Order: sequence, then structure tokens, then C-alpha cells
Amino acid sequence: MLEMEHELRAIGNGQAEWIKQTVHVDYDNKSQQPLGFSNNGQYNKVIKLLGTFKGNLSPDDLSYLVKTVDGNIYHLYLHLSDFNSFHTLSPVRWTLEFRVLKKREAIGLPFWKSTTHMRLEGVADFHGDLCPELVLGCKACHMAIRLLPKLDSLKELIVIAENDNSPALDAIQFALGCTLSNRKLRTIDNNKHIYLFASAVAGYGVKLSLKKICFNDENCFNKFEKKIVGACATLNDAASYQKLSDDRVERLMNMDSEEVFAVENVRRCLVCNDFLTESLIHVNNGFPMCESCCLDITGNNSNVVYQ
Ligand SMILES: [Zn+2]
Ligand SMILES: [Zn+2]
Repeated sequence: MLEMEHELRAIGNGQAEWIKQTVHVDYDNKSQQPLGFSNNGQYNKVIKLLGTFKGNLSPDDLSYLVKTVDGNIYHLYLHLSDFNSFHTLSPVRWTLEFRVLKKREAIGLPFWKSTTHMRLEGVADFHGDLCPELVLGCKACHMAIRLLPKLDSLKELIVIAENDNSPALDAIQFALGCTLSNRKLRTIDNNKHIYLFASAVAGYGVKLSLKKICFNDENCFNKFEKKIVGACATLNDAASYQKLSDDRVERLMNMDSEEVFAVENVRRCLVCNDFLTESLIHVNNGFPMCESCCLDITGNNSNVVYQ
């Protein structure tokens, strides 16, 4: 996945050598991918399919970003010509469009090699790509650790996330070791970027809620994202989306945590164990409780008193 990202960045930056030649391609119908192609009398064996895209010449066209045995990355375009025409020979035409130029050093994002950003590279490797929501997750972890210095060790830390499918969850699992399977990460399917970090022992913590951030690219970003999710993105769509996503990542990285998340202190109700915003906590005989537990208890007490 990371390899694909690098190539999309290069393509987005115009690092391509145009070839535009009709070529013969060995295509495996079973796995639906090119196995190799001949170009200038040389056979190039494909060792990896990096991505499949929709074409832009006709609706059924497909294109493939492939890596060949010599380490080069090529873009192959499969044009399915009009079946109504009288061309009975081959309805299929392959074009070797371009080779991606190798300038890996120049492709990296400015902060990619930075050590100050909490093993972001490792998190991205674990997750599969470097995307804006992964950065959100990293920022939330950073902020929580900074706000909860009294946590003696990460062992007592638990996280409650109000979504169950964001890449941010991978950042939390990787950076803090709070995972679904060790039960230190719980998820509630509210589809919100709200993350509660708390000490399971002491019963206090912080709740971080994503603020509204305006990237000024929402229309484009959502349009390309929809295409990619729906598997109808062209290579150009994918490269454009990569560029927008990289811009968002960079912008988020450069923002202060306070600009990204609103913070509330939370405490745990001693009776039902729910974590609540501190202002909603009732203190009953020195014990923190939520309103309904507090009412239950004082209600029972009053029953006892008046009967
Ligand atoms: Zn991602
Ligand atoms: Zn309660």
C-alpha cells in the first residue's frame, strides 16, 4: 500500500516518462491481472500489481499500475473498443502509457523522516498508508499522554472510541498498545471522532472531540473518495486524491492539538462505571456518581427514611 502511495505521489508530480505504445500483454483471466508485456523486443515480467483503475476512454476500460521484474513501475491501459464497429480482429487494445521515473528521495513528504512525530512511519506501515485520519489518531494519543501525566504507566490506560472503523483506531492500537483484544480499547458505533482516554484504576481521564476543521477542499476530496470507495477511480483520480490527502496530512501535522480537538475532563461514576464529563458528576458522600445512580441511591435512602 505504501508503495502505491509513493507511486501515486510521483505520478501526481509529473514524474513519468511517456511511452504511449501499443503492446502485447499476457493477461491472466483468473486473477484478472497482467502477467507481462513485450516492449521494444523485450519481455517485461510483472511481479506485482500495485493498483487497478477505471479508464477514461470508454466506460469498460481498465488500467493497471504494475511493477516489473527490473523494478520499474509501468501504467498499462486496456481499451475495450466499440463492439458495434466492424473491427473484428481484436476488440481489445493494450497501451503501455508511461513508466514512473525513479526519484524516490524527492517524493517523500517533508515530515516523513522527522523523528518528532511519534513513529508516524511505523504507524503508517502498520495501518497500510498515511492518511489524514491516521494522523488524527496519532495527535489524539499525543495529546492524551500530555494531558494525563499522572498515569503511572500505560498499563492502566483505557480508550473508548466513538467510532469503529476509523484509521485513527490503528494509531491508538499501535502507539498505545490499547487494542480491541486486550480490551483496553472499546468502540461505540457513533461515527464520531471522539476519543476518551482514562485511567482504569483511578477513574479519571480526558475526552477529545474533533473540532470542525475546514480544509477548503471538501468538494473535491469527497468526490474522489467516493470514486475510490466505489472502485471507479481512474489513475488520475487516484493521483489527485493522493495529493489532496497528503495536503490534509501535512496540514493536520502542522496544527496544534488544541486546534484539532476539544478537551473535556471526565470522571467515572463509582456505581455504573460510566465515564462522564466532570460537570455532570454528582459527589455523594465523597464518591463521584452520575445523576441517575445518585438519584437511585438517594431515592432508596429517602424510601428508607420515610417508611
Ligand atoms: Zn488509511
Ligand atoms: Zn452511574
